[in-house]
Amino acid sequence: MDRRDCDVLVIGTGASGAAAALTCSLNGLDVLVVEKEDVFGGTTVYSGGWLWAPGNFHQAEIGVTDSAEGVRGYIRDETKNRFDETKVESFLQNVPRMVEFFENNTSVKFFPGPVLPDYHSPKPGSLPGGRSICALPINGRELGKHLRKFRKPRRELLFAGLTIASGPDMKHFFSARRSVVSAAYVAKRLLLSFWDRAFYGRDLQFGNGAALSARFFKSLIDRNVPVLYGTRAERLVVDNGCVAGAVVKSKDGQTEIIARRAVVIATGGFSGSVDHRKKYFPHSPSASQHRTLALTTNTGDGLDMGSQAGGIVDDKLLNAAPWMPVSAVPYPDGTIGTFMHLLDRGKPGLITVNTLGKRFMNEGASYVDYVNGLIGQARPDGDASAWLIGDHRAVRTYGIGIVKPSPVPYKHWIRAGYLKKGDTIEDLAHEIAVPPEALRATIERFNRFAETGEDADFQRGSEDYNNYIGDLEHRPSPSLGKLEVGPFYAVQVLPGDISTFIGLKTDENARVVDTKGKPIPGLYAVGADNANVFGGAYPGGGSTLGPGVTFGFVAGEHIAGRSSQVSSTH
Ligand SMILES: Cc1cc2nc3c(=O)[nH]c(=O)nc-3n(C[C@H](O)[C@H](O)[C@H](O)COP(=O)(O)OP(=O)(O)OC[C@H]3O[C@@H](n4cnc5c(N)ncnc54)[C@H](O)[C@@H]3O)c2cc1C
Repeated sequence: MDRRDCDVLVIGTGASGAAAALTCSLNGLDVLVVEKEDVFGGTTVYSGGWLWAPGNFHQAEIGVTDSAEGVRGYIRDETKNRFDETKVESFLQNVPRMVEFFENNTSVKFFPGPVLPDYHSPKPGSLPGGRSICALPINGRELGKHLRKFRKPRRELLFAGLTIASGPDMKHFFSARRSVVSAAYVAKRLLLSFWDRAFYGRDLQFGNGAALSARFFKSLIDRNVPVLYGTRAERLVVDNGCVAGAVVKSKDGQTEIIARRAVVIATGGFSGSVDHRKKYFPHSPSASQHRTLALTTNTGDGLDMGSQAGGIVDDKLLNAAPWMPVSAVPYPDGTIGTFMHLLDRGKPGLITVNTLGKRFMNEGASYVDYVNGLIGQARPDGDASAWLIGDHRAVRTYGIGIVKPSPVPYKHWIRAGYLKKGDTIEDLAHEIAVPPEALRATIERFNRFAETGEDADFQRGSEDYNNYIGDLEHRPSPSLGKLEVGPFYAVQVLPGDISTFIGLKTDENARVVDTKGKPIPGLYAVGADNANVFGGAYPGGGSTLGPGVTFGFVAGEHIAGRSSQVSSTH
């Protein structure tokens, strides 16, 4: 077997692994990164690129004052009996340091999200905006010849071949029909994208997760940190109870990589492994009843390797994964895509009903809460699907699933069987096999709520997030709108995930701990491989990448012997 050595071996090129690798490199360590896929970036490239980062310095720029006491109380409330004080303190103390460190020393830059509220605002300690930050867009040309090694976006996230980024970009796209400035902006974006695709085969205006990942990639390139692609870590090398490296496999065979200081596991969790899902997901794990938006090649390698080295998997979390409602998209070429229902489900004029034709939850809740609503109404066979329903006005104003708003054509989605249509409520009910009288009664009752602006059944509109994903200009409630103008449409929604929360148990420095709670020398786990710091809760936008990048930074500093002491506040 070939041999190679380094100070630090990082397994995986998602944002969490990249953060650890970059921090180690900036602290003068010799870092080697291995990546199972032929391209850089992992699920991170598909993501929204948002990080939940309480106390970040951008808050001052937008006039937001955060309170350490407030955020601590909010997290305590969110995490219930899974509150881990030491890890939460480490997160809270290191988030602001992490943001400053990367912005001051690398190409990793963020912009603030003043209107993205914490997901359970107005709970005490929450904020109506400003804790989440998003990666600043970047042009793919900055990756130079390495661009070909950068993961391409998911098909479902593209509109006319380009990704619409959060922030001003999205605002312009939504306002293009009402504002000349926005229309001109969109025309320019489309033109540039057309040009990029003609010459580079892809849109190069990276936003969101692609921007986050590309910014980490550029920073690693600038520091000459080597990445071995198509190289899968198979097992850890354990010497006398210490992790001393890993055996990796590529098309050229196996190599033993000796890491003098540490191995950082950052393989992105287990969303792609039906076996792991069967073990850890409480609802039906079958491929047809649960769909992941994460990389299907993220198959739990990190959890398996960490367990073999004496680590333990923390599976006692509030949620096994950050859930996301999805729908299965039948493409003309016979492939099935997965669409995430992030915004549409909370728009005025759209509701969700079960197979009895009844509403069963606040549709404007966070995606994690929404999927818990789906799981809660599952039939005895485990089928947790439901129907997202809207009238013509809502569907053409806001879109539904992969069906885009007017003027984008939509009838091919009816022919493909994705979008169900009925001229009347009863016609639609027959189409989707729900009792027509029940569906009509549900819609009539909801329409009365829309008139008063108060959802007496599920309090939709009571949380800031409900209104954020609604339509802030809609009255009397941004979240509630009548379904009255036929035809009516429906899309089937299923439980899905964007990553996993169950992971290796770690301490406040991201060191993997054994059954006695003692750190295993030389072994760190970050990102989805590190059991979620919020005990499986999702307090705000970016609750996986926020901790992922922060603990990547924490691990890097600890390996370099630079970590700050976490002080308890109690
Ligand atoms: C559509 C979508 C939107 C999202 N939006 C957000 C958001 O805005 N904010 C947020 O916080 N979260 C978001 N998420 C979740 C977030 O993307 C993930 O939690 C995060 O990217 C996980 O990062 P990671 O570094 O742990 O793993 P990844 O980014 O998946 O990287 C893991 C890497 O490890 C590699 N790997 C796996 N096994 C091996 C092995 N054995 N050897 C070598 N390499 C290996 C993989 O190929 C992969 O490249 C979103 C996810 C999706 C799908």
